[in-house]
Amino acid sequence: MDMDESSENAAWIKKIIHDFIQTSTENTLKNQANDKAWGPPLIGFSRGDDPLYEDFKDHVGPFHLTPLEFFVAAFGDRTIQAKNLSVISWVLPHNTVTKIDNRKETFYPSERWARGRIFGEETNTKLRKYVVASLESKGYRAIAPVLMPEFNRAISEKYGRASTWSERHAAYASGLGTFGLCDGLITPVGKAMRAGSVIAEIPIVPTPRPYTDHHEYCLFFSHGICGKCISRCPVGAITKSGKDKNLCYQHLFPITSGYVKSNYLFDGYGCGLCQTGVPCESKIPEKQDVP
Ligand code: SF4
Ligand code: SF4
Repeated sequence: MDMDESSENAAWIKKIIHDFIQTSTENTLKNQANDKAWGPPLIGFSRGDDPLYEDFKDHVGPFHLTPLEFFVAAFGDRTIQAKNLSVISWVLPHNTVTKIDNRKETFYPSERWARGRIFGEETNTKLRKYVVASLESKGYRAIAPVLMPEFNRAISEKYGRASTWSERHAAYASGLGTFGLCDGLITPVGKAMRAGSVIAEIPIVPTPRPYTDHHEYCLFFSHGICGKCISRCPVGAITKSGKDKNLCYQHLFPITSGYVKSNYLFDGYGCGLCQTGVPCESKIPEKQDVP
């Protein structure tokens, strides 16, 4: 790998993602104030042949696809090599006002949070397409896994509800954070965020992972304290054993979806109570953050 070229590629991709989030009119909650959905992003990179991607498949189930499997499915080209692929991953933190609003909630999502879940995710989808188009315009083949027909939901024997690609796991592999008790990814800008990714055939130096354990940033696992996400969950879906995805899902649908439609007047859903009003909401928490 030519280090100059791969560092330049990393810098260029970081810039286009930053610029999109900072300046695009697509970054919107579509509310009256036209607030931005997302604050400044975090961006990381991992290689297509990073052994973690095979590990995810081993843990989640054979239906979970590696970067190479997605790429081969997209281009039908069996000469592609995993080592020539890079995963470009980003974390989009909810804007500060959205987080402040949702901290006050105890059962339903705030309107801004629900808008972030729906319209903010539309922004995230546009960002995926923009990154793919930008790479293609420079001659690099690229895809956004969650926009591919191969992206599907599935049931994992070990973890229950799962899918063929996980944005949060790509972010973990790309040095952006570790998992919390509630299953969210705790990043340097916190857990109140959404992630996105693109796989491209472009040399980029991978981002170092500043952690050795997949739970390292969560105070419950690192120090045996906190557990604030347990009490924030209105339906008891989080316990010391982790998150019950089915209980969480039953709260999202139809309870929050019905509430969003009747009260905020759009088709949506959301919750995020375990992502806000917790020590890991907006940063990597420290011991002293827990009273
Ligand atoms: S609220 Fe506390 S226990 Fe829950 S994920 Fe965050 S740091 Fe871990
Ligand atoms: S999203 Fe809501 S229902 Fe689901 S685990 Fe978090 S707090 Fe509980």
